[in-house]
Amino acid sequence: GLPDFSQAVVIGTGYGAAVTALRLGEAGIPTVMLEMGQLWDTPSADGSVFSPMLSPDKRSMWLKDRSEMPLASFLWFDINRNIERYTGVLDRVRYGDMSVYLGRGVGGGSLVNGAMAVTPRRSYFEEILPDVDAGEMYGTYFPRANAELGVNEIDRDWFEDCDAYQYARLSRKHAEKAGYRTTFVPSVYDFDYMRREEAGEVPRSALDSEVIFGNNHGKRSLDKTYLAAALGTGNVTIKTLQEVRDIRRAADGTYRLTVRELDETGGTVARREMGARHLFLGAGSIGSTELLVRARDTGTLPGLGEEIGRGWGPNGNVMLGRANHMWNLTGSLQSGMPALGIDAWDDPAHPVFAEIAPMPAGIELWASLYLAITKNPARGHFTYDAASDSAKLQWTAEQGQASIDAAKVHFDRINGVNNTVYRHDLFGDTRAFENRFTYHPLGGVVLGEATDLYGRVKGYDNLYVTDGALIPGSTGVNPFVTITALAERNVDRVLAADIRR
Ligand code: FAD
Repeated sequence: GLPDFSQAVVIGTGYGAAVTALRLGEAGIPTVMLEMGQLWDTPSADGSVFSPMLSPDKRSMWLKDRSEMPLASFLWFDINRNIERYTGVLDRVRYGDMSVYLGRGVGGGSLVNGAMAVTPRRSYFEEILPDVDAGEMYGTYFPRANAELGVNEIDRDWFEDCDAYQYARLSRKHAEKAGYRTTFVPSVYDFDYMRREEAGEVPRSALDSEVIFGNNHGKRSLDKTYLAAALGTGNVTIKTLQEVRDIRRAADGTYRLTVRELDETGGTVARREMGARHLFLGAGSIGSTELLVRARDTGTLPGLGEEIGRGWGPNGNVMLGRANHMWNLTGSLQSGMPALGIDAWDDPAHPVFAEIAPMPAGIELWASLYLAITKNPARGHFTYDAASDSAKLQWTAEQGQASIDAAKVHFDRINGVNNTVYRHDLFGDTRAFENRFTYHPLGGVVLGEATDLYGRVKGYDNLYVTDGALIPGSTGVNPFVTITALAERNVDRVLAADIRR
């Protein structure tokens, strides 16, 4: 045998992976998690674990020479800065007309995301995954996911008079004037902690602009919830700076992985082989899809079908800003954690859920920012590129146009009623709508298409996908609660039917 064999291996440490590892560990299954990023628990010389948001250092980005903020400019000034190449926490993977932001490290996207913990509308969930029992999801698995993730809601009275959400109250006023409904967004950021930040009782994080480069305090990222519980079972180990490159099948039906160990500048320290009886892919929509596209097209898992690599979408993401009148202040203090959304999902022609996003620059910008989630049926797919040994996303700007059109209908109305205009200086050129990046990559190994209805990859046994790759391109809301709940459902079945049997 191999020196390094485990009954279960989980690739990645994001939402799908963390759920799976906890439930395997509870069931007494020895489980190894392989994560290409670092463990973020040790303060640097400045006393903080993560980079400051407004003066990014090497900790901010995954192996880049320059920071790559989603808002490329203010008044056309480039706000990015040169940094040292390092295995930092936020990655931006570029493909032609689309780039994808990803979290890297123990906790995956939970380290860098906006903490918005939204359960999708049941009717839309039934539309995107019609073969999944919605009664079971809404009766058992969504409640379980919300409880384990530590989802909490903002105190309404505090929201109404704190400085940190003046920007959200102003956007609400403008939306309501145009006839729109707003809704509070639950969060995994601890709102009690945020109140204590405002009171000056604890170190600031959300109120110190922190979000996409990591929160030094206050956020219930996966390392504090699911992954802590998984380690607590005593059956789960997490190995960091371990990138899985290749997957093949041994003659005895177990899996063999080639794992590249990285150093902190991305160099290769070693390559190792690992074995697993049950292999769970939780490397995210981009990571899990790439592993399977590579395995199919290089012939290491030749039985994988044509559905692998299909059904990808950016959750209809569009970002935009509005310019406010001089007398409408958004405030120089803005919580990095959004708490309110404009809900126009019932619009029959142009369903949109627009989160009211902060611009936590520390100064008044007279701007309101939004991340709109739209319903766009266009889907991309991945192809294997032998020269770079990677999977390339095929997605064109034209495919994203319907998302811009939908957002424009509603924000034209909001601007019209309030006599305001779009900002044209935020995205590096003069465009008002930015949809060349997404925070919400979904699909690539779609449930019920490339896998069975529980994430078992078609053509192989004991091979599973657990993460955002399962969701067909759209959830209508921010996706991590959906990913978590679906992983809870799938692992329940897999444990009962495939592992404990
Ligand atoms: P991920 O969380 O992406 O985890 C995958 C993990 O696998 C990563 O840690 C990665 O390093 C690792 N990995 C990848 N490939 C390999 C490999 N080959 N070998 C070893 N390890 C590998 N969603 C919300 O619901 N609410 C929000 O407010 C929100 N805000 C966001 C803000 C930002 C800036 C970003 C980037 C995302 C945001 N999201 C938000 C999206 C959310 O974070 C993702 O949908 C979610 O993290 C996806 O979970 P996952 O389990 O699919 O994979």
